[in-house]
Amino acid sequence: MEMKEKETLLVALGGNALIRKGQKGTVEEQFENLRVPVGQIARLSRKYRIIITHGNGPQVGNLLLQQESCSAVPRLPLEILVAQTQGQIGYMIESTLDSLLMEQKIAPQKLIVSLLSYVTVHEGDPAFRHPTKPIGPVLSEADAMKHPYPVQLTEKGYRRVVASPRPVTIVEKNEIRKLIEMDFIVICCGGGGIPVVREGRSFAGVDAVIDKDLASATLAKEVGVDIFCIATDVEGVALNYGRREEKFLRTITTAEARRLIQEGHFEGGTMLPKIEAALEFLAGGGRRSLITSIGAIERALDGKAGTEIVIGD
Ligand code: ADP
Ligand code: MG
Repeated sequence: MEMKEKETLLVALGGNALIRKGQKGTVEEQFENLRVPVGQIARLSRKYRIIITHGNGPQVGNLLLQQESCSAVPRLPLEILVAQTQGQIGYMIESTLDSLLMEQKIAPQKLIVSLLSYVTVHEGDPAFRHPTKPIGPVLSEADAMKHPYPVQLTEKGYRRVVASPRPVTIVEKNEIRKLIEMDFIVICCGGGGIPVVREGRSFAGVDAVIDKDLASATLAKEVGVDIFCIATDVEGVALNYGRREEKFLRTITTAEARRLIQEGHFEGGTMLPKIEAALEFLAGGGRRSLITSIGAIERALDGKAGTEIVIGD
């Protein structure tokens, strides 16, 4: 069983894998941008079993904007929009991967699947009492006042805010584990997963957005991932990020990471959940945990780029 020897690599792609800062986010741009991380993932699939997770911030924001600007059709709840983005982004990643595997002549042996994924959250999660995550378009004050959802004044202006509860479990974990054992490349947990709560024997969607890095860590633990690589738009983890004394780190121990969290080096909602996800993954038995840029996934795995978080004092 040679297959058993292959390690499993989970790559979590940030929103910038599809839409770079300053771009409009046309479909052409998104397909072009995807070639950078997906080309690397295609090569890595020779050596590793692969799981790909991804964000959906700009895409779900655009769907919300489409809804806000059209009263002719009924509004859809957020969980349906998340499901839509899993479909559209899953399709874009899968078809890009398919053509790059073909170009790299790895195609015939590779099976790929994009999976709609639900992630359960606790109904009693304190996040539901304090929605903090801004989503969708900036609203005028007048629109904000008559908006049917909770709205907050953010740095950019008035925006709808939703709860960002902690992921509890990935509903399709057994399916994903089986697919990985069969050496499928699995694209799943898009946008942090479709948020659901358990109601007796069934699930009900909720108006929330789960952080994709935390959902990826939960998935990684549940399916036994060996290497967890978070790919984003900075080269790694920095001390004093954005200030003159900014310094990117190549390695940090888990104890150091906890200290840096206390000292406030990581912004909530962006780098903080990535560090928390890395810590959670290592605590759950993961082997390697990396945070790197979209363009340097392979180099990070070789220890030549990015930040590696390692267990230690
Ligand atoms: P993604 O879509 O990949 O999840 P995010 O915007 O959520 O991207 O997170 C990446 C961002 O985290 C960077 O662009 C940077 O602005 C921010 N950030 C905050 N603190 C730090 C830090 N200490 N080191 C590096 N980046 C940081
Ligand atoms: Mg993020």
